[in-house]
Amino acid sequence: MTQGIKDKIIVVTGASSGLGEATARLLSAEGATVVLGARRADRLQALAKDIEGHGGKALALETDVTRRDQVKALVDAAVQNYGRIDVMINNAGLMPQAPLEQLKVDEWDRMIDVNIKGVTYGIAAALPHMQRQKSGHFVNVSSVAGHRVGPGFAVYAATKFAVRALSEGLRQEVKPYNIRTTVISPGAVATELLDTISDPAAAAGIRSFYQQVAVPADSFARAVAFALSQPPEVDINEILYRPTKQEL
Ligand code: NDP
Repeated sequence: MTQGIKDKIIVVTGASSGLGEATARLLSAEGATVVLGARRADRLQALAKDIEGHGGKALALETDVTRRDQVKALVDAAVQNYGRIDVMINNAGLMPQAPLEQLKVDEWDRMIDVNIKGVTYGIAAALPHMQRQKSGHFVNVSSVAGHRVGPGFAVYAATKFAVRALSEGLRQEVKPYNIRTTVISPGAVATELLDTISDPAAAAGIRSFYQQVAVPADSFARAVAFALSQPPEVDINEILYRPTKQEL
């Protein structure tokens, strides 16, 4: 059990697969109580059951992060059931990569709604509780694409640059409340993320790249655990990591 994680009440969005699921599992193993949000309720329930089967504590709530009321209900459920929220992990996201000229405007809207607005709703839901507690920690998920733009990634990168901007603004504003903010920017990690790509050529290209370089999702979970397990006076603001094989 790790200091800074044990007995913490941690809300994770996008917990039904990939980075969110791996993080919930690791943090639970380190003694945290995890409150799990995503749309696929069956996957969340199975995860909660599995965590409880391993002696952990988990609560699963079907949540669409594009719905402000549902994100608030997720965070409020954590506070109602366990008395507080220590960490809000704004992780839910999607990456339907395609060149702009394909005008997949619905996918652009979806990325903006989930990747940006989902994070703002997470902040809106958790911030009042953390201010009242005078403690808390936001972990927002950006990407290497939040640091550099590549062809086919324009809108996705825009959303992930936005997550970094939001996180930096938040960091500066929450100092009086003893709240920490960490933004984590992973490179290629093997998850279900590529399933959201509808353009066959883009999907084939990026799948082949991921097959060559992607690292497992517990790489991300360990980065989260590192940030959370620092002494309270240490605020890890940015983590950028890539697979060792990944160049750009
Ligand atoms: P996955 O596709 O495996 O997981 C995405 C998660 O987001 C799922 O749990 C999904 O749950 C959830 N999600 C999607 N839309 C919504 C929604 N509207 N409301 C609630 N939850 C939603 O991919 P990853 O684990 O890789 O992605 C997690 C984050 O990591 C994303 O923000 C992604 O951009 C970021 N990232 C991933 C990288 C990678 O290489 N894998 C690299 C850099 C960043 P459900 O469908 O059940 O709602």
